Amino acid sequence: MFEGFILHNGEPISDCAIQGNIDVSRKHRSDATTFIDENGIERRLFRARGSFADRCDACMLPRLNCLCPYQVTATARAEVWLIMHPHEAYKPTNTGRLIKDVLPSTRIFQWSRTEPDDELLALLASNRYRPFLIFPDDQPDYADRIVRQPAVEGEQIPVFIILDGTWRQARRMFRQSVYLASLPILPLHTDRLTRYKLRTPASESHLCTAEVAAELLKMAGDVDASQLLDDYFDTFNDCYAASRVHHRLQAPTEAMQRLLAWQRTGNDSVPLFEVD
Ligand SMILES: [Zn+2]
Repeated sequence: MFEGFILHNGEPISDCAIQGNIDVSRKHRSDATTFIDENGIERRLFRARGSFADRCDACMLPRLNCLCPYQVTATARAEVWLIMHPHEAYKPTNTGRLIKDVLPSTRIFQWSRTEPDDELLALLASNRYRPFLIFPDDQPDYADRIVRQPAVEGEQIPVFIILDGTWRQARRMFRQSVYLASLPILPLHTDRLTRYKLRTPASESHLCTAEVAAELLKMAGDVDASQLLDDYFDTFNDCYAASRVHHRLQAPTEAMQRLLAWQRTGNDSVPLFEVD
């Protein structure tokens, strides 16, 4: 979707979107420009807020406040598998990829309604894992699939399957994916309000993907991984938001300092964080 490297106002655009090819929020619509494509068809070009010419190749953030110095890894008993809507994969504001940075065991599958990933199907069939599909319990027609706790048997690994997309995309993925239709559904109940600054949610109770994962890991008792992911998410959020207004962060935030401390000790057997 970034093929052709379209120039807009003389500036390279790395996170632009063409209508119909990617979900574009209302906020971006005012920024629409029309252009004629190679077939002579008028198309509308949208420029996502914060299009920067100079991005880090590794973390995709503007180099002004790169995330890479704060990257940490952790281990957790639970695993997170993301089923990512194809439109999410190229968005630099996607937070699903932060989960994989912190927890390398994370698996990311691209969603397909009719051609699900073979590896995903094999994993779903494996007795080694106990997958839970994370979804709200606000509709009566799947009430019989709802579970309240991620309970497992023996050595089974609990797996949180998160549908990574906009709220609307996630509902569509949930309804249209036959291969997910028998999984137990674990709704996430939390008082937490989103801290995500890069997209405007319909409701403050709609958490972004990394926030959902952090809450689930906490629920599962993976406290260090949860706290590290939260700190990494807050750092991503602060770095990106500052870059959008062309501000270079001067001093590390508390979350950044904790990540740097974790890098120095580098041992996830030593708990750095107090359990609530
Ligand atoms: Zn970087």
